[in-house]
Amino acid sequence: MLNEVYIAFLEEVNLAKDINSLYQSLFKAVSSVFRDFRLQIWESIDDETGYSIIVDLTENKESSMLKFRVKQFPESFKRTIKKDFIQEAQINDELLNKLNIFYGIFLGLSLQESTNAFIVIALEKKPKELSQNEIDFFEKLRIHFEKALKKETLLGKKNDDSKRLLMQNENLREQDRLRTNFINNISHEFRTPLSSILGFSKMLVTKNSLNDSTKEIAQQIQHAAGRLSSLITDFLQINRITTEGWLAHFEPCDIGEIIKSSVEEFSSLNKAYKISYKVSDNYPILKTDPKLVRQVTDNLISNAIKYSPSGSIIKITLEVSDNKKEILVTVTDEGIGITRDEIPKIFNRLYRSSSPEVQKTPGSGLGLTICREIIIGLGGKIHAESESGKGSKFTFTLPVN
Ligand code: ADP
Repeated sequence: MLNEVYIAFLEEVNLAKDINSLYQSLFKAVSSVFRDFRLQIWESIDDETGYSIIVDLTENKESSMLKFRVKQFPESFKRTIKKDFIQEAQINDELLNKLNIFYGIFLGLSLQESTNAFIVIALEKKPKELSQNEIDFFEKLRIHFEKALKKETLLGKKNDDSKRLLMQNENLREQDRLRTNFINNISHEFRTPLSSILGFSKMLVTKNSLNDSTKEIAQQIQHAAGRLSSLITDFLQINRITTEGWLAHFEPCDIGEIIKSSVEEFSSLNKAYKISYKVSDNYPILKTDPKLVRQVTDNLISNAIKYSPSGSIIKITLEVSDNKKEILVTVTDEGIGITRDEIPKIFNRLYRSSSPEVQKTPGSGLGLTICREIIIGLGGKIHAESESGKGSKFTFTLPVN
């Protein structure tokens, strides 16, 4: 059976169009031996500073989150199964442990002299002993993957440029980490006084003895503090995603119901908009994270409201793709739209359009970044279509599993 998998792997590798499909093929082959694993590539240009995780695949899809270094040292690769090339080790890294990764099978890759690289099959716990058959299988995968990678990629290029770029990349990551920590601390510090402002202004708004104009001021304070609070929540969430990654909790999930309750909630709070939804018959129940999906639908509907005139129509649809492999959710509005050159930028962190209509609307420029991270992390895709002045349509997909 492993032989068949190996042959299929070779065929796929030969046909692989790009490096990503190469990783996907390897993932598929490894999943004939392991369940619930992540497939990673660790790379190090010197042994002192540990490894960068440059690829992280889960459930056959590229995940969006791992952007950090791992401090694992060669001496911790205790158990050599075969030559120097297949080793097992406990993984003692705080961030990886948080992702439920405690054990790794390391398949060495010799790509260039100065670089240490491994394919890592990252697992929750020590697996049962590999059989000789399995060891041979992994050794063959390793050799062919390495060959294909050398042919295909960046990693295989023998030049100093790639080393320099790797170093630069590392510095940027470090700076990013420091900035992120700073934002994190500040945001937490803001939270406490903000909850007092929110609590007391709420008390004032409901106090009968106050006259109308004082109440209105209290309402404005409450509103502004509420906005600040959701901004801080966005900042904290995006920081967490980019530093630690996030853990999705997969469970059977009725996307139609999520859309329905999201629409009902927004409709009751925004009576000036006609928000409708249409859900196709027989859509499948997906195994995904309902809270995260709800966060995305909420965000897209909230944007549609924010950037459309009152009285306009907002439509949400749920369809199944023709090949039945994914579901598609769209949110369409009749609002201000987005110019063609801005469309590629709106998913970037902190990006907001400079148009006066957007600038006068409060926002953090983080909502769509969070949506994209979530959807990629759940194995789907998200994109926007729009024309300035003619409304926008956001579509996201999720895989049917
Ligand atoms: P925010 O809405 O807080 O500014 P987002 O990340 O949600 O941040 O959106 C980024 C930018 O994308 C917005 O500032 C706006 O310029 C544009 N945008 C998002 N959704 C829409 C929409 N439905 N219609 C028009 N522009 C939009």
